[in-house]
Amino acid sequence: MNRITTVALSGAVTLLAGSAMAQANMDAVQIKATDLGHKTWMLQGNGGNMTAIVGDDGIILVDTEYAPLHAKIKAALAQLSDKPVKYVINTHLHGDHTGGNQAFWLDGVPIVAQENLKADMAAGTTNALTGAKTPPAPAAYLPKMTYKDSTPVKVKGRTVQVMHMPTSHTNGDSAVWIADANVVATGDIVSTGMRYPNVDVGDKGDIDGIIKSVDTYLARANAKTKFVPGHGDVMTKAQLADYRNLLGDARAAVKALKVAGKTEDEAVAAKPLAGDIQGRAGVNDMASVNFVRLIYRSVS
Ligand SMILES: [Zn+2]
Repeated sequence: MNRITTVALSGAVTLLAGSAMAQANMDAVQIKATDLGHKTWMLQGNGGNMTAIVGDDGIILVDTEYAPLHAKIKAALAQLSDKPVKYVINTHLHGDHTGGNQAFWLDGVPIVAQENLKADMAAGTTNALTGAKTPPAPAAYLPKMTYKDSTPVKVKGRTVQVMHMPTSHTNGDSAVWIADANVVATGDIVSTGMRYPNVDVGDKGDIDGIIKSVDTYLARANAKTKFVPGHGDVMTKAQLADYRNLLGDARAAVKALKVAGKTEDEAVAAKPLAGDIQGRAGVNDMASVNFVRLIYRSVS
């Protein structure tokens, strides 16, 4: 799946997971590990980024990409540690981050997530842009360990803090604070690499919540903090600050049109992100059209 397709289908990617084409693409995927220091790695294959936190008796894995990649993910983890995965944490419900849940569940691994994620995954969701429906997930995909505001997750020698962020990308977003490595796994609240973040307004996503969450990440970080975004490469605090400014500028441009009484289609036609903002994000016209619609629907 190329990046432009990914942008257009963001939030509906689960539909592809079972197709023959997706399977063929998965066969070619390699899992790349980036060392973040202190026995902590970012893993990238196809789908959302994963983070591996290696302790003395096991691994905490943040997100699971897609089920067909399970063997490759486990092989990549085996390069980092001979210990098993003890916990999986889901940052949010989208299939490019949770598609591998069942395979880990079959291995006996508990899945940790915010309680809204479980409820929405169990109920099924509808993509606000495409109308594509994600059906209710089978019970085996659902997280067994849910929390409301925050929870620690521990393996021997490592403790991470999982925190519910304000309604942002979805209404069940978790960030994972890995204090001993000075790393934050942000989920899709931070999503880069030739794409805007998806404001999943079909699942109560909110551009103001995304900006507020990024402000929280920045406020709690220091100059050496590394951020693992939901998509894209590892980011520094300075890069995250640029991303925050991009979101703020995009929001302001769309909100000005809404306040001026423009309809959603008129706001799209005005191309408020074309030029500077679209150039900074490195995205195509269709991504900007989608982002205008999602911002328009979520700003008041
Ligand atoms: Zn997502």
